[in-house]
Amino acid sequence: MDMQTSFLDRLFESGLLIDTGVDGLYGRSGQFEDVIAAFERLIDRFGGADGAEAMRFPPGMNRALFEKSGYMKSFPQLAGTVHSFCGSELDHMSLLQCMEVGDDWTKDQKATDIVLTPAACYPLYPTVAKRGNLPANGGLFDLQSYCFRHEPSKDPARQQLFRMREYVCMGTEQHVTDFRQSWMDRGVEMMKQVGLDVTIDVANDPFFGRAGKMMVNNQRDQNLKFELLIPITSSANPTACMSFNYHQDSFGVKWGLNLEDGSVAHTACVGFGLERIALALFHHHGLDVKEWPASVRRVLWG
Ligand code: ATP
Ligand code: ZN
Ligand code: MG
Repeated sequence: MDMQTSFLDRLFESGLLIDTGVDGLYGRSGQFEDVIAAFERLIDRFGGADGAEAMRFPPGMNRALFEKSGYMKSFPQLAGTVHSFCGSELDHMSLLQCMEVGDDWTKDQKATDIVLTPAACYPLYPTVAKRGNLPANGGLFDLQSYCFRHEPSKDPARQQLFRMREYVCMGTEQHVTDFRQSWMDRGVEMMKQVGLDVTIDVANDPFFGRAGKMMVNNQRDQNLKFELLIPITSSANPTACMSFNYHQDSFGVKWGLNLEDGSVAHTACVGFGLERIALALFHHHGLDVKEWPASVRRVLWG
């Protein structure tokens, strides 16, 4: 049995994660949730004075806006769409018949207007664009959402439905790159306060296919994405627990996000993988929170 399976098994045995029979789809215990809540309060303490506007979207987004985002060009392998039965009574009878004999009953399901949110910031850009030009000091937003990615895995740190806390900044190039740098510094400091050793490295998104290779190279060459990495299932391949993304003016152009003077906004977002951070804490300090170092407990629970 490899290390990865055994950490997942220990999480199941301790009850911190609850097996649903699907890789990457887990229930969480009250204790697990309490760690996430405490860590989110720590995030609030670091980011709270910046005056970000909080918004919370459900874990599904408008399909038309998802289509416009270009997600299917870049990450078709990760997307999750919501389909429903939209037929007549006769169709219902053949649906039940189909299920009865074990045929594929899902093929006649129709796409709804909703797709599962792939990253917490996706619903934000069109929402802000609708308001008109940004104010003189740009925009700063605080988001949290369950996100879906179709990447089933036995690695407990790679889930299909997980929560992402994000701050998103809109403004000039200087403004948003300063924002990104300040959160890289804060991220390192926060993790230090909770006793976790981190590294920061340049990274890329998993762009699909041969055309995606060029996007990967471009993203890395231009330092558009950094990750804060913490060992969870392997010390050789530490896990990205935060990401720091500079989109240049690409989202500004796509969504029509403009600054007060009418110029196109640059954007950046910083994401915390909340389950991953909780898992890093459990991996490093042990599965019993009562046994965690006093200093870490004080930072999280006062
Ligand atoms: P990875 O490189 O591990 O695939 P990512 O680069 O795709 O992650 P982002 O798109 O930057 O991740 O998402 C922001 C944050 O959300 C990540 O830094 C990570 O902490 C968290 N995250 C991403 N994918 C998952 C997942 N499948 N399960 C749990 N957390 C995730
Ligand atoms: Zn984002
Ligand atoms: Mg990555």
